[in-house]
Amino acid sequence: MIPYGRQDISQQDIDAVVAVLKSDFLTQGPKVPAFESALTSHTGAKYAVAVNSATSALHIACMALELGEGDWLWTSPITFVASANAGLYCGAKVDFVDIDSRTYNLCPNELEIKLERASVEGCLPKVLVPVHLCGQPCDMKRIRELCNKYDVKIIEDASHAIGGYYEGQPIGSCHYSDITVFSFHPVKIVTTAEGGAALTNDHKLSEKMALYRSHGITRDQDEMTEVSHGDWYYQQITLGYNYRMTELQAALGISQMMRLKEFVAIRHKLAERYSFLLKGLPVLIPYQLENTYSGLHLYVIRLQLDEISATHKEVFEELRVNQIAVNLHYIPVHMQPYYKAMGFKYGDYPDSEQYYKEAISLPMYPGLSESEQDKVVKVLTSSLASK
Ligand SMILES: *Cc1c(COP(=O)(O)O)cnc(C)c1O
Repeated sequence: MIPYGRQDISQQDIDAVVAVLKSDFLTQGPKVPAFESALTSHTGAKYAVAVNSATSALHIACMALELGEGDWLWTSPITFVASANAGLYCGAKVDFVDIDSRTYNLCPNELEIKLERASVEGCLPKVLVPVHLCGQPCDMKRIRELCNKYDVKIIEDASHAIGGYYEGQPIGSCHYSDITVFSFHPVKIVTTAEGGAALTNDHKLSEKMALYRSHGITRDQDEMTEVSHGDWYYQQITLGYNYRMTELQAALGISQMMRLKEFVAIRHKLAERYSFLLKGLPVLIPYQLENTYSGLHLYVIRLQLDEISATHKEVFEELRVNQIAVNLHYIPVHMQPYYKAMGFKYGDYPDSEQYYKEAISLPMYPGLSESEQDKVVKVLTSSLASK
């Protein structure tokens, strides 16, 4: 089976993890801060808080921005459910901004219209979560301008985008956002098995996120002086969680980060090769924005259904039957039963729904060989011609 995504683990990665197993600390040792340093030095952001998943990172990011009951979080319908769920964890309500059908990212024009209307109706969002789908950066300059106008905070969901650049700035620099979140799940660009991180340039936000990561506990010894206390002393000053990353995960992350540039370069080579091989077929290949460098987590094609006789499902199944585990990123979040039960319905976000009817994620990962890629194109070509 050729998967749609897969980790790339080297001997150096394995040695790094084994060394931690033989060391004194499996958790709460030196590797997590060292991994956070690797993230800040790559991105240029001042602070990084490593956690056990991007979902946790989104949650503590929302908490740090004080998202709560009565507030709104807006995101794109074309994302993994976690981008929206983070708002629900905080008791906030969730709404969506339809995509730009060229980039598949949240559409800034739609955002502008929706913000204007929300401003009149008094229901502006507190937090916007733009998602850099497939690694292609969102139009962050425009999004920041609009959000500044209405005092909306921004969390970039960069789960697909580490290693990418927007107008010369590394994704994760937080130049146009309050917080940026990364995922290190094995199918993503860099992995820690499970893992995530939240980056920011704001010291207060970083301190809050660090507190929420670990039970709301601090070792600062200031208040509660009615009894003496020693080294063992700690204080819980807010309600947090255990979202900590282990030393094993951090060691793997540090080792993987050393190959980040190489990983993304290989993805670009594969994407160029796909785009070349798919020329002339009735599929839309990914659009590359100017002034950006995609992390290329995914290579998504859109079937031009009016030019082929096969259905989306048939093409999908033909690839699957031929041991090519293509995938679909994503079912629009508002069409999930849990979200439908909140009142969302088919027809709410037409560009997202149209995308969903046509999209297929082709295999894309550093270990994908040219012959495997040729097989994908061959099966795809025949499935488009069949029927
Ligand atoms: C993978 C992903 C997440 C969640 O990441 P985890 O590390 O698995 O929690 C969130 N948002 C997007 C866009 C993702 O692709």
